Amino acid sequence: MCPQSRDDAELCAICFDRQLEVTMVGAGGAPCGHQMCAGCAFQLCGRGLDAPTCPFCRADIGAFKSAQT
Ligand SMILES: [Zn+2]
Ligand SMILES: [Zn+2]
Repeated sequence: MCPQSRDDAELCAICFDRQLEVTMVGAGGAPCGHQMCAGCAFQLCGRGLDAPTCPFCRADIGAFKSAQT
């Protein structure tokens, strides 16, 4: 097992399968800034909840933006 084998890119902490691709922005200026891959972000939005929440800090997510590397 060598999860850090792909350069120094961080892997998504949810699926450990893809690199971090999006950063969550908390709704109403809530602090978040956690990152995940686009696939997990898409699933988060597809649960049918009123608003997605960060799986790490449970902040309401207002928007997603591309992760800056
Ligand atoms: Zn993921
Ligand atoms: Zn968060």
